[in-house]
Amino acid sequence: MARPPDLKTLGELKAAVGSGSWLDSRDGVEPFLTDFRKLYHGATPLVLLPRSVDEVARVLRICDREEVAVVPHGGNTSYCGGATPDASGSQIVLSLSKLNRVRQIDAANYSMIIEAGCTLAAAQTAARDAQRLFPLSLGSEGSAQIGGNLSTNAGGTAVLRYGMMRDLVLGLEVVLADGRVLHGLKSLRKDNTGYDVKSLFVGAEGTLGIITAASLKLFPAPADTATALVGIDSPRHALDLLASLRTAAGDHVTSFELMPRLAVQLTVKHITGVADPLAQGTPWYLLIELSSPNAQQALLTLLTAALEDAAARGIIVDAMLASSIAQSQAMWKLREAIPEAQRHHGASLKHDVSVPVSAIPTLIEEGAALVHRLAPEGDVVSYGHAGDGNLHFNVSQKPGADIKSFMARGPMLELAMFDLEESLGGSISAEHGIGRLKAAEFARRADPVELAVMHDLKRALDPKGILNPGKVLCVR
Ligand SMILES: Cc1cc2nc3c(=O)[nH]c(=O)nc-3n(C[C@H](O)[C@H](O)[C@H](O)COP(=O)(O)OP(=O)(O)OC[C@H]3O[C@@H](n4cnc5c(N)ncnc54)[C@H](O)[C@@H]3O)c2cc1C
Repeated sequence: MARPPDLKTLGELKAAVGSGSWLDSRDGVEPFLTDFRKLYHGATPLVLLPRSVDEVARVLRICDREEVAVVPHGGNTSYCGGATPDASGSQIVLSLSKLNRVRQIDAANYSMIIEAGCTLAAAQTAARDAQRLFPLSLGSEGSAQIGGNLSTNAGGTAVLRYGMMRDLVLGLEVVLADGRVLHGLKSLRKDNTGYDVKSLFVGAEGTLGIITAASLKLFPAPADTATALVGIDSPRHALDLLASLRTAAGDHVTSFELMPRLAVQLTVKHITGVADPLAQGTPWYLLIELSSPNAQQALLTLLTAALEDAAARGIIVDAMLASSIAQSQAMWKLREAIPEAQRHHGASLKHDVSVPVSAIPTLIEEGAALVHRLAPEGDVVSYGHAGDGNLHFNVSQKPGADIKSFMARGPMLELAMFDLEESLGGSISAEHGIGRLKAAEFARRADPVELAVMHDLKRALDPKGILNPGKVLCVR
């Protein structure tokens, strides 16, 4: 069990990173104490901002010796409270934000080595400057960091084509709980040498080691892109359209996002400069993107033909194809501003869930019935990465509803939603992770053998339990 640091240890930790790289005043530490959703507020005696892997290693050696708990902190955009210290005031926060260099871009190898504190947007820019693509894309990319993306195994809007963060990693540099450095920054596509150790740290939410740098896969930069906003009557038609698009365009189908009409209405209402370009007012919208590195692919023609065919078969009701980059960006803004619009609208209950793609319509129908029964003060705003089987099954407070009684419905609704997903072969966390928010429920629902293996790994890599205690795994 970790214990509070004494004054001597705090002094040693400050010396390990040097002046200008630590904060201990009330105002200085405050920005590190609350999670993005404001679900948790913690306390800490010290925030450290190391600038090198050696400094991180020095910090961990001291924490290991003194059994001081360390909470790694990236861009603080995660939805599960993983980067927030607890209220005891005994955990130190380790921010990776100053470890933010691009160490190497190897365009011929389609790879780059980048430090954990680089924002995702900076990583995308570095790849673009080398005429390459780093394909992870999230609404929070301006603030979220590569270390946070790795530690939550982030997904986003291009998983259908490129996979999740785990699929984009070639190698990692990690500081272990005792301060040893795992130098694993290989940039190889083929490396069959024993266990895939790096994979353990992806999605571990800082509980097994501190990621300091990563070797990431790059891809050819897209030279042709076609974007469309499509109106449909039912999520079942979304599946029909996805299947025919995959037949027509194969791997060029990059994004396939589903939105209910209410999400579109809230976004138009609350976000400046957002408009709904479709006239028919269908109950569901799809945002579809095809992309290719080949400029001669004529994706707009291909997408137009596929949508005309779908309209003729009664699968879609309405569609608008983007004829400029500005139009495509406006369509994406409509999709990506949904969480912000929901925040402006009022309180919401959030569920980041996944099921097999084929079960998406059932999840929506049966989930809506649960909301009707268990949280009647709410409206369902279930949107997201339908092409990956992942919906943010959110429920927004109805206008004028009492916020307290609405929020009080949360725990009961959440359990019912988890039961529903389980019955459909789904997951209680599709892409946001477990953090503190879902640790108890995860312990209750995970396969017991899988959970035991996770505890064994935790004990092996962090025997004193100093790395992000209380996140992912409940203490046994
Ligand atoms: C508007 C918005 C849209 C979003 N859209 C998506 C989406 O489409 N898909 C998706 O997957 N997520 C999405 N998210 C959630 C979030 O952005 C991601 O989970 C992101 O990957 C978190 O990165 P971060 O740097 O902010 O991590 P943080 O929130 O700082 O930390 C997340 C976890 O990782 C740990 N951690 C951070 N850095 C390190 C490190 N270097 N080493 C070890 N552990 C570390 C922390 O302790 C914590 O447990 C969205 C969030 C917002 C606000």
